[in-house]
Amino acid sequence: MRAVDLIQRKRDGGALSPEEIGFFVSGYVRGDIPDYQAAALAMAVFFRGMEPAETSALTESMMRSGEVLDLSELPGPRADKHSTGGVGDKTSLVVGPLAAVCGVYVPMISGRGLGHTGGTLDKLESIPGFRVRLGPSEFRSTLARCGLSFIGQTPEIAPADRRLYALRDVTATVESPPLIAASIMSKKMAEGIDALILDVKCGDGAFLRSREEARALAETMIGIGRSMGCRVGALLTGMDQPLGRSVGNALEVAECVETLKGRGPKDLESLSLELAARMVQLAESAPIEGARARVRQALGSGAALAKLREVIGLQGGEPGVCDDPGLLPRARSTEVIRSPRDGRVVRLSARAIGHAAMVLGAGRDTADGSIDPGVGVVFHKKVGDPVAVNEPVATVHVGSRARLDAAMAELRGAIEVGPQAPEPSPLVLEVLT
Ligand code: URA
Repeated sequence: MRAVDLIQRKRDGGALSPEEIGFFVSGYVRGDIPDYQAAALAMAVFFRGMEPAETSALTESMMRSGEVLDLSELPGPRADKHSTGGVGDKTSLVVGPLAAVCGVYVPMISGRGLGHTGGTLDKLESIPGFRVRLGPSEFRSTLARCGLSFIGQTPEIAPADRRLYALRDVTATVESPPLIAASIMSKKMAEGIDALILDVKCGDGAFLRSREEARALAETMIGIGRSMGCRVGALLTGMDQPLGRSVGNALEVAECVETLKGRGPKDLESLSLELAARMVQLAESAPIEGARARVRQALGSGAALAKLREVIGLQGGEPGVCDDPGLLPRARSTEVIRSPRDGRVVRLSARAIGHAAMVLGAGRDTADGSIDPGVGVVFHKKVGDPVAVNEPVATVHVGSRARLDAAMAELRGAIEVGPQAPEPSPLVLEVLT
């Protein structure tokens, strides 16, 4: 078998067999197939798509590229949550602690920033000292001690996604339903979980913008998870404007801490509570109302904030960030964007805002590139809010001045103030169970 022949077949619209997909994935992970051939195949899949059987085979090969955890020694149910990616989408840092307080073990394997969206690992690494590279035994022991651990794909667990994810980020091959489904489900199914709630985004800032595409992606992932014996549900949620008020790694960590103190933005709080409740419901096969009451209690009592503090400490991070956000990295300077007129905020385009944050340095330009953890944007207004001429709409946290002009132009274009607010739409659009 030759990699080039498989790339050519996919380029021309043909299907690959499970053996051929397995050959490609294992060859790539071993280093026999180079990045340029994997990038070419990813681009061919981007344009040609995959049959359902190919997507399942890709997920299975990627999952089996490393260890598939057996966490049956843990004395409670194991569950996780994963989002398909959004702007300001930081719920993992709130949902993980909420569910862990409710007695669910959360072995969360996350990713870095992808395309115009941020990633949980980059957010966590903005906490001084926080280590996302734990080996399987430290991952297990952290999980056993506090019910929650956050890691990235490692050379041992989901190594194929580790490499492909970084490659897709910088080769414009992110927005592909089969590649998204296989990326998410391969690492989630390697976690050894009983239940999974998916947050499938749609709208301007999502990888798949239309509701129909998002629903199809959700159904694909639910089907893959169930065929592997996992209880999977999904929420379809709107991603037309950023979630919460902050976009950028350290800024988002600070917002999660505020949310766990009960002072966060309402959209972030309510979505986090719902995702955590659905996780508890699926993990324990429990009624949703009881699960909702328990996660609300975990938030209101401060127990979830204490859980975040605990996991940060166990993973080498500075737990004091939960008390003093000044311990998080900060950008060198700030610039304020003011409203050009009186009116209402009509639009905060999530995609352009996410892209502007990447231009500021919140994401990578190349696979081994670095990020600036302090940069980003904080919005003082959400869509529908009234605003007066010259009133601040956003504060931009700036690192390198060289990137400022391009980012500011994009941000100004992303913000629209007009005479009338659009009809508000619910954040949770559909529940797929
Ligand atoms: N999240 C992932 O883990 N992978 C994707 O491809 C998109 C979102």
